[in-house]
Amino acid sequence: MTEHAVVIAGGGPTGMMLAAELALAKVDVAIVERRAGQDLATSRSRGLLSRTIEVLDQRGVADRFLAEGRVVHVWGDFAGVPMGISDFPTRHNYVLALSQNHIERILAGWVGELPVTIYRGRDVTGFAQDDVGVEVELSDGASLRAEYLVGCDGGRSRVRKAAGIDFPGWDPATSSLIAEVEMDGEPELGVQRDDKGVHAIGPLEDGRFGVVVREEQLGQTDEPTLQDLSRLLVAVRGTDYGLRSATSISRFTDTTRQAASYRTGRVLLAGDAAHVHSPMGGQGLGTGVQDAVNLGWKLAQVVKRTSPQSLLDTYHAERHPVGARVLQTTMALTALAREDARVSALREIIADLLSVEDARKRVAARLAGLDIHYDLGEGHPLLGRRMPDLDLMTADGPLRVYILLHEARPVLLNLGDPGGLDVAAWADRVRAIDAEYLGPWELPVLGAVTAPTAVLIRPDGHVAWVGDGTDDGLAGALTAWFGQPDAT
Ligand SMILES: Cc1cc2nc3c(=O)[nH]c(=O)nc-3n(C[C@H](O)[C@H](O)[C@H](O)COP(=O)(O)OP(=O)(O)OC[C@H]3O[C@@H](n4cnc5c(N)ncnc54)[C@H](O)[C@@H]3O)c2cc1C
Repeated sequence: MTEHAVVIAGGGPTGMMLAAELALAKVDVAIVERRAGQDLATSRSRGLLSRTIEVLDQRGVADRFLAEGRVVHVWGDFAGVPMGISDFPTRHNYVLALSQNHIERILAGWVGELPVTIYRGRDVTGFAQDDVGVEVELSDGASLRAEYLVGCDGGRSRVRKAAGIDFPGWDPATSSLIAEVEMDGEPELGVQRDDKGVHAIGPLEDGRFGVVVREEQLGQTDEPTLQDLSRLLVAVRGTDYGLRSATSISRFTDTTRQAASYRTGRVLLAGDAAHVHSPMGGQGLGTGVQDAVNLGWKLAQVVKRTSPQSLLDTYHAERHPVGARVLQTTMALTALAREDARVSALREIIADLLSVEDARKRVAARLAGLDIHYDLGEGHPLLGRRMPDLDLMTADGPLRVYILLHEARPVLLNLGDPGGLDVAAWADRVRAIDAEYLGPWELPVLGAVTAPTAVLIRPDGHVAWVGDGTDDGLAGALTAWFGQPDAT
């Protein structure tokens, strides 16, 4: 039976990102993907939000996406208030408009440069796990043996169901069709609301139009057709604008659910397999990519026996609350999109509150993923938050912090006396670098924070320890996150 250290079910954005993280950590990883190629049959994400672009920047591949997308400074809205983060302390203070088809193609191109095995055109149909590994069953009758199986197989995850992991949440309140179409007429562009929800028409890059329109009934299971789309458009806009043909038509709902546990033994969940919600706010793809970046280095260290299995518990502990917040955000967005008198009253009050600068920043940071804070205990505000991409000066010249993270390895950044911190016992795992930084330390929403003398940065870009002129707590943090010190 073919063996891999890790098998990933599903090669969508989450599975691809996780495979890249594991391959960078030199772990033998394979993806099993149902689709024969990377093309998507339906229209899905239309862009990348700030923290996701930062995460890709941490791996040195953000430029590939930036080269093909379009920078948008004001995107979407919350309670009718346009959201933008131009004034935020990040290099990527915008949204990158780029459709999921392109995002997946670029991700797959990157993964293709790394040592990742991909079994295409087959499904994971089930698995059996024991104390030392997992036997993964495939639809072609073959099996794969792995130490760990990660279900990145989307909202209807076979892995989640076979693992018996509960998926509590809320049934849909709305159902919509989303399509990419050609129209002979001049459609009225933009978003409109009525008492059930939102309908919108926007231009695509090639003269076609993207359409989202709500359905009158919930629970329809038949494949939507051009006639269905035309009928719905006529019902809400009085015309179908000469709707001629569609490259894709599909249905989505605001079903909102989250896996009760992101891990059972040697089986883990990430991305839509762990959480589903309305696409409003564009939160899904980025949340999955960031799940992968939180899990990848931890799983690599456990597979390499550098860290105990209990490190994997921090994946659920850190990412489940983030997922729960995303669900809350999207439920609020869905509720606020309705146009009845009571919701209008609520929207106006929230819009008024969002005219307060701090309130707007809080909501915008939440949507952009720039406020994520893992609970790593009391201490400096940086602890558990994303490391800013500072411009450093080193003995070898200027250097950006995120360049230090390209190899997905931990970094100890010493900004105090050169050579003042001793990490020799972790030298095989942690890259130590002396540098100077004289600029401001500014975090999204929190603003200016005290300059630390050193920071220990995890491979996912979150800060695991903050120095205050001493090395108090450093050895403990290194051991907790990156394993026991070398005895030699
Ligand atoms: C209409 C719509 C609009 C959206 N808009 C946005 C947006 O603007 N921004 C945003 O961030 N997100 C958006 N999303 C959400 C986004 O598309 C998902 O969150 C994202 O695709 C999740 O990635 P994933 O890899 O976790 O799952 P998926 O993309 O669902 O990938 C799962 C993969 O697993 C494969 N697979 C499934 N079952 C098996 C199996 N048993 N064996 C092997 N392979 C399997 C599938 O073929 C697929 O490739 C939108 C979604 C929809 C439906």
